[in-house]
Amino acid sequence: MSYYREMVQDMDDRQKLELVSILIESVKPAVAKTEADDEEYSLRPFTMEELNARIDQAEAEIAAGLGIDDEDVWHELEEEFAREDAEEDARQLAAYHKEEQLAWQAGRTVSQSDVDAFGGIEKCFAAEPIPDGVWARMQGKTYKENPYIGRDDLRHVRALHWDYDNQMHVGEMVVNAQIADRVVTILRQLFDAKYPIQRMLLPDVYDADDETQMRDNNSSCFCYRAVAGTTVLSKHARGLAVDINTLYNPYYKDRDDGTRYIQPATAADYCDRTWDFPYKIDHDDLCFRLFTAAGFEWGGDWTSCKDYQHFELIEE
Ligand SMILES: [Zn+2]
Repeated sequence: MSYYREMVQDMDDRQKLELVSILIESVKPAVAKTEADDEEYSLRPFTMEELNARIDQAEAEIAAGLGIDDEDVWHELEEEFAREDAEEDARQLAAYHKEEQLAWQAGRTVSQSDVDAFGGIEKCFAAEPIPDGVWARMQGKTYKENPYIGRDDLRHVRALHWDYDNQMHVGEMVVNAQIADRVVTILRQLFDAKYPIQRMLLPDVYDADDETQMRDNNSSCFCYRAVAGTTVLSKHARGLAVDINTLYNPYYKDRDDGTRYIQPATAADYCDRTWDFPYKIDHDDLCFRLFTAAGFEWGGDWTSCKDYQHFELIEE
């Protein structure tokens, strides 16, 4: 019986009401029988003998297995609750799948049906104010408290991109509001041309460590940091420079002592631009053509050093 009591304690009001209605259903036959008996007894009060007789009768009925079997009632109730729980679980699972499908999870590959779920291809290329979740992820990583650039100066860009695996990948980038529309347009053009980009994750995924994200061939834009080896703020610190396919399009500078500084350090082979390899950016490259047409300069054209991955806004 204490088991039933616990069960009742766990019920919400709706479930209690349902319990009452099930109990009413189950006592209906007994009530009908009692009403029939009432005819006989009319409206006069029971005498003590009659009352005792009815109690004996009820006990006899229970002993004979007649009357209300509360085990059956509880069993029915349990089944009803189990059915409702299963239905609720199914609803929650469906909602979770929907949310999962609609979440912009950079790095994931998507199918045409995912694109449809997003609301079509147009919805997959957009710039918006930095969402709370993204802003939280950036703190202490790509974003550090500073007097030059704040949340309102930045935009979150969502884009899809193709890779050599012939799959659509989800990408995201944080850029300066000043170039957001241009970057969205360029990324859409690259997508339409099936231009291969391997990864487009926020550098926060790599704890904003540039060397690590470049070794992973990540493409990105905003990161509040100095130009490597100096205290000068990089154009990336203002979200005005975009790096594409960074492992295959490294940065290097030849030092006076004849040694070469390369970023990422694993990209020595790709400093030689005379051979053919994947993701290589040169003057025939679509990425080069789109960025330079949109007012960016290419680090591959620099003479004191080379930065083949780098496109930065030319400022007046
Ligand atoms: Zn760069």
